[in-house]
Amino acid sequence: MSSTGEPSIFTRIAAREIPATIVAETDRIIAFNDIAPQAPVHIVITPKTSQYSNVVELAAGDPGLLVELVEVANAVAATVSNGQFRLVFNTGAAVGQTVFHVHAHLLAPQTAAGTLGEGTLGFR
Ligand code: 5GP
Repeated sequence: MSSTGEPSIFTRIAAREIPATIVAETDRIIAFNDIAPQAPVHIVITPKTSQYSNVVELAAGDPGLLVELVEVANAVAATVSNGQFRLVFNTGAAVGQTVFHVHAHLLAPQTAAGTLGEGTLGFR
């Protein structure tokens, strides 16, 4: 649940209430193509639980789940790119976080020029 009490958009994607192209799923993690890609490969990787609003909370509250998320990112990158990738956690509205259900942006193999400025995925 978000602070508003409504399920987050990512909870609804995990529940198949909202369509998305799901590229990987484990018991606790789901990964799907971003609806507004900022790179040739742009995948959102998120815990199914909406308990943690950002990566700092996740790291403090369930570090093992953060490790799982990174492992999923690595496995996905191995299949959709050359295995090299950027992993971006926007943390706070001022750096572009819009969904307060912790998630990583997997960007690969390289970001499209000029798409990572302030207001999108943070700072270069
Ligand atoms: P944030 O800005 O919070 O770091 O990242 C949220 C990301 O979720 C954005 O890149 C945005 O494009 C993506 N997103 C928002 N709503 C949807 C949706 O309904 N489906 C998918 N696939 N991605 C979404």
